[in-house]
Amino acid sequence: MKFTFVTLFPNLIEPYFQDSILKRAVESNFISYEFYNPRDFTTNKHKKVDDQMVGGGAGMLLFCQPLFDCLDEIKKKNEDAYIIFPLAAAKPFRQNDAKRLAKKKNIVFVSGRYEGIDERVIEKYANEVFSIGEYILTGGELASTVMADAISRNVDNVLGNADSLEVESYENNMLEAPSFTKPEIFQNLSVVKEFLKGNHSKIADLKTNLAICKTKYFRPGLVTNKKFK
Ligand code: SAM
Repeated sequence: MKFTFVTLFPNLIEPYFQDSILKRAVESNFISYEFYNPRDFTTNKHKKVDDQMVGGGAGMLLFCQPLFDCLDEIKKKNEDAYIIFPLAAAKPFRQNDAKRLAKKKNIVFVSGRYEGIDERVIEKYANEVFSIGEYILTGGELASTVMADAISRNVDNVLGNADSLEVESYENNMLEAPSFTKPEIFQNLSVVKEFLKGNHSKIADLKTNLAICKTKYFRPGLVTNKKFK
């Protein structure tokens, strides 16, 4: 899987790939990344990429020409390019999307800045658009990095233990059951005693029940299985 980031600010994204799990994934060639800066595609003397909104409105927008030329170049070089725009005004990005997109060969994230991007760029090039939450960020870099991280975990071999993907929150519309590690008691706080008794089927049942309770409490809207309602 290759991530292509179209951004005016690559330094906001790159450090995330230079540490921990994603660093190892890059070193092992399970994922790779590259940057394109729309400023390098400008045809105006001052390398300007933004302009005022037609019809009025506060703030500036990234205008068409540098992004059209940049995305044409990317598409020419990568026939598998799948182009995603992080947008506040879009459907939410979910775990199912992360899993589905992990099968793509090349995902291109186009980061907006200022008041966003001329709508014609999105209309012409977007394969999908996603929001990472109901709030406004200063730019798409963080949102692109968040999605790239969630997708990377689902790319084959990126996680040392692929089993951990199967019991995570949002699998089967459930949150993960509470988890504990050693010691069994810390500052008078105990792990769930049943987890210590070694009866694996009992532990599995209890975890399912705890997951149902947690999901109903924190995210009641997730529970679609009538059996659990
Ligand atoms: N004027 C836009 C609006 O009201 O929808 C917000 C523009 S925002 C300041 C600049 C850029 O940040 C957007 O073009 C988008 O790329 C990114 N962005 C901001 N909030 C986001 C969110 N919640 N999810 C995904 N991307 C977001």
